[in-house]
Amino acid sequence: MMSFPLGLLADIIYVITPTYYRSTQIGDLLRLAATLRLVDNIHWIVVEDSNNISSAVKKLVKDSTVNFTLLNYKTPPSANRIHRGVHQRNFALKTIRSFKVSRGVVYFADDDNTYDKRIFNEMRNTQKVSIWPVGFAGGVDFEGPVVRNKKIVKWKTGFARKRKFPTDMASFAFNVTFLSKSPMPKIPDNAKHGHLETDFLMQLINSSDELESKAEDCSKVLVWHTKTMKQKLN
Ligand code: UDP
Ligand code: MN
Repeated sequence: MMSFPLGLLADIIYVITPTYYRSTQIGDLLRLAATLRLVDNIHWIVVEDSNNISSAVKKLVKDSTVNFTLLNYKTPPSANRIHRGVHQRNFALKTIRSFKVSRGVVYFADDDNTYDKRIFNEMRNTQKVSIWPVGFAGGVDFEGPVVRNKKIVKWKTGFARKRKFPTDMASFAFNVTFLSKSPMPKIPDNAKHGHLETDFLMQLINSSDELESKAEDCSKVLVWHTKTMKQKLN
């Protein structure tokens, strides 16, 4: 594991979190905040799926002590509802692009997943696109690349195996310089069910050979696609 004694040398990780109001929202965000505050050089971009920034989320991100930008972007009524968080992630990408920074790493971190703090330093020195497995994604115990001799030889997944990059949103990070390209890479609103990630990654790279394997050659699970149960409130 790399460590960065001099904070200035470490690239910032822009962590993008779309979030929406439901009974478990604050609990989920609190869990994510608790992890992020353990990591240096994080810039947390939280995008509420709402017409206004809510006071509860504002207080939470302020109290987190993590550097943050809090935004809101309401999913338009016309949106294709197959995928969630698409417009919020794209708004965050545009916002990061507007920072005009030449160094840094971008990561999509949904509010309900579970993150081991070590995953952030794994992704920190991403040159192009880095990759690692995700627990409980793709209908298997963990979904991700199978690496032999530093090379991705195949993918383990239980869903839509024909996807070029059959992998979860939480499984990759990319260099911020991709955002200054024209057209800017975007999460497609019209992707087939479960194809957001592969369609996004195909805008960045052409082949798995370009992916940088992290988490001990993709042998360690450091992030889980967990879901918080909807609460039955009487
Ligand atoms: N989300 C959102 N608006 C919605 C539904 C979800 O912004 O109407 C966010 C949510 O908070 C999460 C991400 O989009 O960060 C993915 O949503 P969810 O976790 O429900 O999807 P799944 O895990 O089932 O793919
Ligand atoms: Mn989720």
